Amino acid sequence: MTDSAASARAAHILARKLAGVSRAIDQLLAHAADGGRIEPDEALALYTEAPLHALGEAADTVRRRRYPDNIATYIIERNINYTNVCVTGCRFCAFYRPPKHPEAWTHTDEEILRRCGEAVELGGTQIMLQGGHNPELGIEWYERVLAAIKDRYPQLTLHALGASEVVHIAKTSGLDHAAVINRLRAAGLDSFAGAGAEILASRPRAAIAPLKESGELWLAVMEIAHGLGMRSTATFMMGTGETNAERIEHLRLIRDVQDRTGGFRAFIPWTYQPENNRLRGHTQATKLEYLRMVATARLFFDNIAHQQGSWLTTGKDIGQLSLHFGADDLGSLMLEENVVSSAGARHRSGLAELIALIRGAGRVPAQRDTRYRHLVVHDDPANDPTDDRVHSHISSTALAVTAAPA
Ligand code: SF4
Repeated sequence: MTDSAASARAAHILARKLAGVSRAIDQLLAHAADGGRIEPDEALALYTEAPLHALGEAADTVRRRRYPDNIATYIIERNINYTNVCVTGCRFCAFYRPPKHPEAWTHTDEEILRRCGEAVELGGTQIMLQGGHNPELGIEWYERVLAAIKDRYPQLTLHALGASEVVHIAKTSGLDHAAVINRLRAAGLDSFAGAGAEILASRPRAAIAPLKESGELWLAVMEIAHGLGMRSTATFMMGTGETNAERIEHLRLIRDVQDRTGGFRAFIPWTYQPENNRLRGHTQATKLEYLRMVATARLFFDNIAHQQGSWLTTGKDIGQLSLHFGADDLGSLMLEENVVSSAGARHRSGLAELIALIRGAGRVPAQRDTRYRHLVVHDDPANDPTDDRVHSHISSTALAVTAAPA
C-alpha cells in the first residue's frame, strides 16, 4: 500500500470510528431525553463527549417534561454563618479560623435573632445556618438557637446544618447520629442543607478535606436523616482537582442513596472559589464544564426533582444559561453569605434583576419556598416586586458584626 493510500485508509477508519461514537452518543442522548436511566459510564461519555448543544437540548427536554408550566424558581433566604471557629480546617475553605484565633467569632443568640428578623422584614422565607465545627458548641447550643428562632419567627423555615454538622455534634456531645437528628428536629429544624458534600469520591475528598467525615459517612448520615423523615438537598463543589470520572462518581453515590430514600429534593452543583485558602490554584471547573455538569446531572438524576443553577459562583450569565441546560431553579437571593464570598465569589443580584434573568431565559419566574411550592408567580411584569432593599449580601464578614468572643 502506498503512503497516500495508507493515510486515506487511516482517515477512513477514524471517520468511521468517530461516526460510531457519535451514533452511540446520539442514541444515549435520545434514551436519556426520553426519561430512560443512564449508567455512570454512559453519563461520563455524555459529560465528556456529547456536543454541547445536543447535551443541553436533551437536558432541557427532560426539564420541560417535568415542568410543563415553564416556571423557574428562586427563593429569598438568609444564610447566617453563626461561627467561623472550626477544627476541621478544610484546605479549600477561606472562612474558618481555628479556636482562639484573634479573628474567631461566634454570634450571640440575640444577633442571630436580629438577622432572622431582618430576613423576615425583607420577605425571606428560609434561614440557613452554616458555620464551622466549633468544639465549644454542643447539641444544647443548637437546640437553644433553633428553638429561639422558631419561637420568635414561626413563619421561617429552618433549612440548616447538614450531615457534616451532625457528625461533629455527635462527637462533641457523645450522641449517635440518629439522636442528634431527632433532637435538632424536635428543636425546630425543618430540613437539612446539602452542604459539606463537597466531592464525595474518596481520593479527591481526602485531598481537599482530610479531617472532614468521609463521603460514605456523609451519605450514611443523610440516609439516616431521610429514614427519620427529614428531607435535604445535595451539593457538589466542582473544580478542586477531581477527574471527570470522579465527578460522575459523585453523582452516582448520591443517586444510589436517592434510590433507597427519595429524600434529596434538589441537586446543587457549584464551582470552587480559589481565593484566600490553602488549596488556592485556579478554579478548575470552567463555565462550560459547569453547564455540562448541570445538563448531565439533569439526565442522570431521574430520581431527583429539582436541579439548581448557581449564579453566585459562576456569574449571572451562566446562571441564566443553566436554565437552558436542565436547571429549573436559580437558587436563592441570599441576603447574607460569608463562606463562598470569602473565597472570592463576587456576584451579587437583586430581586428585580433575578426575576428579569429568569424571564430573559424565556421562563415564568416564581418565588418558591423550601419545599419548592410556588409562593408568587410573576406572570405579569407590571406586578413585579419593586423593593430594592431585597438584594444579596446585605451583610458579610466584610462588614462589622456583633459577635461574642469565640
Ligand atoms: S468548609 Fe466548613 S468544615 Fe471545612 S473548614 Fe470551612 S467551616 Fe470548617
